[in-house]
Amino acid sequence: MSVKVHHLNCGSMCPGCQRLISGRGSWTVPGELVSHCLLIETSESLILVDTGLGLADIHDPVRRLGRGFLSLLRPRLSIEEAAISQVRGLGYDPRDVRHIVPTHLDLDHAGGLSDFPWADVHVFGPELRAATNPSLLDRQRYRPLQFGHQPRWVEHQVQGDQWLGFESIRAIPGLSADVLIVPLVGHTRGHSGVAVQENGKWLLHCGDAYFHRSQVDRPDEMPVGLRVFEAMVQTRRKPRLENQRRLLELAHQRREQVELFCAHDPEEFARYRHG
Ligand SMILES: [Zn+2]
Repeated sequence: MSVKVHHLNCGSMCPGCQRLISGRGSWTVPGELVSHCLLIETSESLILVDTGLGLADIHDPVRRLGRGFLSLLRPRLSIEEAAISQVRGLGYDPRDVRHIVPTHLDLDHAGGLSDFPWADVHVFGPELRAATNPSLLDRQRYRPLQFGHQPRWVEHQVQGDQWLGFESIRAIPGLSADVLIVPLVGHTRGHSGVAVQENGKWLLHCGDAYFHRSQVDRPDEMPVGLRVFEAMVQTRRKPRLENQRRLLELAHQRREQVELFCAHDPEEFARYRHG
């Protein structure tokens, strides 16, 4: 069956300066990050992979997102960028979004959950436990207000399935399309990629398993500002680095079978947006 994948930016952010974030450009102009989300159209339903920032975040940013995030990442807070606005803009009924598969539940990925309270939210078990019972420190990244509508959580565990050498979990049993949760732990306790097959080729949304396209191509070219930020927000360093190494290998060795992209790289996003 045919699957159509739309690439949406559901939350632009303008942190630091270009030079630190993209490795080139100006010291005085802000950097640019996107929140790369997917809207997958299958014959049965619509599925969102990540949700970026939602309408409630845009209307009440200080309470929902916190001053630390706002001053560091400087989100644009645009209603037009919210997933629900873009779903409507594409001519769909938001009620047809029946499933959401977040890569993880950090505030910049889970903000739009509350705009689709009827959807099942498929999460890898360790991530769900970390986010719904957060430590004091983790309350900066997992925002209880974003889960105040009591999402319809569906908790998933690994059960021995493999995908291109990675553990994988079929997110939505019974669906004709393949949407796989691929655990890539490190950035958070249960951080995962999400794989979907379109036109015979796999797309792997790597979430925050890496932050800049150079990391799955030429890691030495990683911009210094992003490198510092990445280490600052990691939960488990060793598995994070090991998973990055495996993604680099996947990108090089399986080029014909799979395309990788992460959540926040604007040039990766532009690749899909314009071509
Ligand atoms: Zn993120």
